[in-house]
Amino acid sequence: MGIALDKKRTVALIAHGGAGKTSLAEAMLFNAKATTRLGRVDDSTSILDHEPEEQKRKITLSASLHHYDLDKHTTTVIDTPGYSNFLTETRNSLCVADGAVVLLSAISGVKVQTEKVWEFADESDLPRIAFVNKMDKDKADSPETVADMEKVLKVKDVPLQLPIGQGEKFKGVVDLLSMKAYIYGDDLSGKAEITDIPGELKEEADKARETLMEAAVESDDKLTEKYLNGEEVSDEELKAGLRKGVVAGNFVPLLFGSAYKNMGVDLLMDAVNLCLPSPLDRAAVKGTDPKTGEDASREPSEDAPLSARVFKTVIDPYTGKLSIFKIYSGKLTGNASLLNSSTGVKEKPGHIFVLEGDKTKEVTEASCGDIVAVSKLKDTHTGNTLCDAESPIVLPPLPPANASLAFAITPKTKADEDKVPQGLHKLMEEDPALEFKRDEHTNEFLLSGVGQNHLEVAIEKLKRKYGCEVELKAPRIPYKETLRASTQVQGRYKKQSGGRGQFGDTWLEISPLPRGTGFEFVNNIVGGVIPRQYIPAVEKGIKEAMLHGTLAGYPVVDVKVRLYDGSHHSVDSSEMAFKIAGSMGFKKGVEQSRPVLLEPIVNMDIIVPEDHMGDIIGDINSRRGKILGVDPRGGSQVVKAVVPMAEVISYSTDLKGMTADRGLFTMEFSHYEEVPAHLSPKVIEAARAEKA
Ligand code: GDP
Ligand code: MG
Repeated sequence: MGIALDKKRTVALIAHGGAGKTSLAEAMLFNAKATTRLGRVDDSTSILDHEPEEQKRKITLSASLHHYDLDKHTTTVIDTPGYSNFLTETRNSLCVADGAVVLLSAISGVKVQTEKVWEFADESDLPRIAFVNKMDKDKADSPETVADMEKVLKVKDVPLQLPIGQGEKFKGVVDLLSMKAYIYGDDLSGKAEITDIPGELKEEADKARETLMEAAVESDDKLTEKYLNGEEVSDEELKAGLRKGVVAGNFVPLLFGSAYKNMGVDLLMDAVNLCLPSPLDRAAVKGTDPKTGEDASREPSEDAPLSARVFKTVIDPYTGKLSIFKIYSGKLTGNASLLNSSTGVKEKPGHIFVLEGDKTKEVTEASCGDIVAVSKLKDTHTGNTLCDAESPIVLPPLPPANASLAFAITPKTKADEDKVPQGLHKLMEEDPALEFKRDEHTNEFLLSGVGQNHLEVAIEKLKRKYGCEVELKAPRIPYKETLRASTQVQGRYKKQSGGRGQFGDTWLEISPLPRGTGFEFVNNIVGGVIPRQYIPAVEKGIKEAMLHGTLAGYPVVDVKVRLYDGSHHSVDSSEMAFKIAGSMGFKKGVEQSRPVLLEPIVNMDIIVPEDHMGDIIGDINSRRGKILGVDPRGGSQVVKAVVPMAEVISYSTDLKGMTADRGLFTMEFSHYEEVPAHLSPKVIEAARAEKA
């Protein structure tokens, strides 16, 4: 390392899945000779998409890092996932990047996922460059793509280039900084022949250069004045103004190329150095002092105390855990004494590594602006702050992950059963969007994630890394039971068997409570008809009976039981007898009180492109859902709805089908409602069949 701070770049490549991020990262690394061959997604030779699950699907599932040196600058590239199920790491990566390159596919424009990652970049206040990729593809349409971007992302873009041709005729670009044409051959070398601007583009190029000049000088008062006075603005001044404007987030420079054919990638790399911020351009990182609870911050400087945030954890079954973090301030050496200020545990870094795609390389030290990994930390997890033990600071946590879809998992064999929880806990360390728990109502093991694809990948990893196999099953819906009428009922238990008998006798009034209230027990016994010491036993019997309703065996809720009368026997009565009496009375009473099934209702936000909105609303209606409203967001619509959970168990797959993977949704539990009368028999029958 040892690179001057102003020469460091950390850039995340972001876009919807398939836009060409991984291909672009491979081309950048190749051009800077950080790699010796141009890795390809299509034939699984990308060192960024190196996990078997990624290679099989030919898509990026988790963030991958590498770095390159160019013109005295060192750039760390973060290749991020773009598919809706895997955006958790993309969002976390943007929290540690200093800038981003947003890819737009010249053939498919802005997709919902691009909007999503654009918002993530907004959250982290990241300066951006836009790269219109796939210019070489048949049907490439750059004006249309740029118009779409301006409309949907509401971005002020400033052309740094003009494309020369498109589709099969795409040859290269006019660079508006040097006012030269860059013409690329078919050799994938990434090197262009630099020529004069073709005659037919000359006029357009002059106009575009003027736009660029105006945008650049606007960032600097002195330059503006110079420009308005008609004085010559030098190339250096133009570049400085451009950099200032991008770093301030005033506009986004626009470039064109083909990652696959390695065209225009060299100019993009120059633009990363020229326009995107170094750690020095970023604001001081803010947090709190754990000792005083007061606000604290760290300047981006090697001389400040160390502060770092873990944004990714990788676990290898053989070599163990790697915690990957960004250093915001200070220096790190192998024998530093580190404090994990989030868990309060002291840690020793030991060996420090930089990440190089599928490999790591050991380094002796790291400092402000670097992203490095350390192995085998005791109690350090994704999102934690690592800092100088003498000057502690806690940085804000990473954004919460959204595990909205739960599936039941069943281990395939007995041996798997023992290994599953351990394996899953390791996967959860790596992937904060996974959640694993046992459902208290149905007793099933539930694995929650962002969507079905996410869970499928998780169980594939579980098998590969930890050798245990499970099957995914749609989870049982946690139905409940309640009643609609009140009743008075006797619960009486009497047993005479030779010696001492059993006797308990209760009169209960059972009545419904408002939805969501749970259970209430009222003791109205007077005159000791039931001795005081037996009353808790009656309540206990009722509570046990509530666990399994009489309709389909689901828990009974929202019911009030008033114990108002009864009798006892001086010898035969016991706690046991009264418990059974209470339980018997409750069961009988519920049967007489018009019992009904309750089903969980979920709140959903479904984000889809405008042209799919009609279909989505129709579909939600056909699932017994209620539309609460539709809000425009960027070029998409957010459909808000409440829907019975039973109707949307496989919604992630269904939405994908309906929108060609252009939709996103979130789902969370809202409340319980009665199952419509015509649907209850089916639920009851299914529950009984399962028990039989
Ligand atoms: P990512 O999901 O954004 O990382 O996209 P990939 O890099 O995995 O690329 C998706 C597909 O598009 C692959 O088949 C690539 O070969 C292809 N691809 C990427 N960039 C280009 C490009 O500039 N031109 C063409 N023709 N294909 C591209
Ligand atoms: Mg990718």
